Amino acid sequence: MDRHHRAMAMRPHVLVVGGTDSSGGAGVTRDVATLAAFGVAACPAITAVTAQTHHGVRHVAAMSADLIRRQMDAAKEANLIGVVKIGMLGHSEAIRAVASFLEDHRDIPAVLDPVLVSSSGGRLTDEAAIDDLRDCLLPLCSLATPNLPELACLLGEPEAKSASEAERQGRALLIQGCRAVLVKGGHAGGEVATDMLFRRDSEPIAFSAPRLNGSLRGTGCMLASAIAAGLASGESLESSVRSAKAYVFDRIAEAATG
Ligand code: PLP
Repeated sequence: MDRHHRAMAMRPHVLVVGGTDSSGGAGVTRDVATLAAFGVAACPAITAVTAQTHHGVRHVAAMSADLIRRQMDAAKEANLIGVVKIGMLGHSEAIRAVASFLEDHRDIPAVLDPVLVSSSGGRLTDEAAIDDLRDCLLPLCSLATPNLPELACLLGEPEAKSASEAERQGRALLIQGCRAVLVKGGHAGGEVATDMLFRRDSEPIAFSAPRLNGSLRGTGCMLASAIAAGLASGESLESSVRSAKAYVFDRIAEAATG
């Protein structure tokens, strides 16, 4: 390895675990672009290749659990991994492969964006895999970033219709074993969009911003990746969430004004 590659490998990387999106709207390419915007290097472990437009998911080819684990191991061997960022997993075997990696490397924090459907239209995670996502993977993660439909689905409950209901569900997910839960309020109504951060031993923190009318795809990928970038750079969880929210807000505002 030459000096440049050795120096690169010593910087904390984010290991990005997720699917590709051929529309370019979401998935691993969004993750890598977001991390690059924060000056953080990424290494990918692809869980699925999707043929997707902005209007629908046409085809999904899932990678084997063995290949997913091998990509993660090789990425870890090649680079210093500061954070694992997890997006689309698709099926139970993939979830278990990622969980087994995290079990073997409990010192590496993991940020889980529990991707279930694409806003382009189409399922990205098998219904049967949701229990594994909650029971096997969630307890190994430092942070989960569900939106309201994902939160409800993980708990097997109807979607929260009020802030107090969302708070109860956020706390219920925390009890499942994750160290922190960021409940994204983007799907709620009102002029202000509020995300709530729940942690084990501290009061919840609200992050509010004016609601924008933009319809940018991949904002969930961006937010979780931007948080992972902050954590990989040594920032606290609260400060990582704050910077990540500001970054995503600016991207939505940019897209809305064309
Ligand atoms: N496709 C892939 C491969 C993804 O990983 C994701 C989200 O993580 C999506 C699609 C969904 O993105 P969105 O709902 O923002 O369209």
